[in-house]
Amino acid sequence: MHQCSICETNQTEGIFVYHVFICPSCEVSIIQTEPEDPNYRFFVNKLKRLQQQTLNS
Ligand SMILES: [Zn+2]
Repeated sequence: MHQCSICETNQTEGIFVYHVFICPSCEVSIIQTEPEDPNYRFFVNKLKRLQQQTLNS
């Protein structure tokens, strides 16, 4: 079980991006989000912040 870093729910399957766990539904959301979409910026910023946390810890 891992906790998805985006939706913060526990999932048995998913992927790791920069050591950040993402569940399949959030992965699809990120892939389907256009760069012009405000949500895209939200996802990218969230991943960047999580990546920095991982590097600093
Ligand atoms: Zn998720």
